[in-house]
Amino acid sequence: MELINLRQITKTYQMGDIAVPVLKGISLTIQQGELVALTGSSGSGKSTLMNILGCLDHPTAGEYWLEGQEISGISADERALLRNRKLGFVFQSFNLLARTSAIENVAMPLAYNAENLSERETRSRAAEMLARVGLADRLDHHPSQLSGGQQQRVAIARALINRPPVLFADEPTGNLDSRTSEEVLQMFERLNSEDGITIIMVTHDPKVAGHAGRKISLADGLIQGEAAASGSDRQGDAP
Ligand code: ADP
Ligand code: MG
Repeated sequence: MELINLRQITKTYQMGDIAVPVLKGISLTIQQGELVALTGSSGSGKSTLMNILGCLDHPTAGEYWLEGQEISGISADERALLRNRKLGFVFQSFNLLARTSAIENVAMPLAYNAENLSERETRSRAAEMLARVGLADRLDHHPSQLSGGQQQRVAIARALINRPPVLFADEPTGNLDSRTSEEVLQMFERLNSEDGITIIMVTHDPKVAGHAGRKISLADGLIQGEAAASGSDRQGDAP
């Protein structure tokens, strides 16, 4: 099923009197269940495109269809609602609350949804999600007591606690060494293949992109090319 369809998306930033075109006409379809890497050099427009895909920002022109709904023109409030219900986010810098345990970090988005879970249900749902990312024995650890890879897995659990169909990750391994990067990427592969979560990650690192089933490369605000990952690529850990 078609999850995302972009038609001629542009984004131009206004810097005083000067218009800065950043996305120059992006058309793209992503099916449910894909694991996609958006690649490209620094400044090519990856984060700008990610912010539009993730409903953090709106395009200057073009159409954005998400699960059959055209959302390019919706209000900031409607975008926030969509984000809370349908979209999970992971960032390079984890963005965990420092003085808060893993389980409390993961439970946080539950406070803003409409389910009105009891404290016990909240805790058990967050614990279940942490177990899913392999951290069942780290529930009460604070971020400073966890490795970088573990912190990113807490962030992944938090991103998925409201069961969104799609997870966006902007340079998710940018702050990790190669071994812990591998641990996070394998987690993405499992969430994608076993739980059917669509994952769209931005990376400038070809080795990270090798974990995706589909690679889309951006250059100067346009899609430059596309490739399916080869088998050897997908194993990903050749030195
Ligand atoms: P990438 O993530 O591929 O490195 P970005 O999407 O962050 O690229 O940025 C693409 C271009 O858009 C850069 O030249 C950047 O300076 C410009 N840009 C990004 N955000 C803004 C903004 N809020 N205002 C003006 N220019 C911006
Ligand atoms: Mg970026």
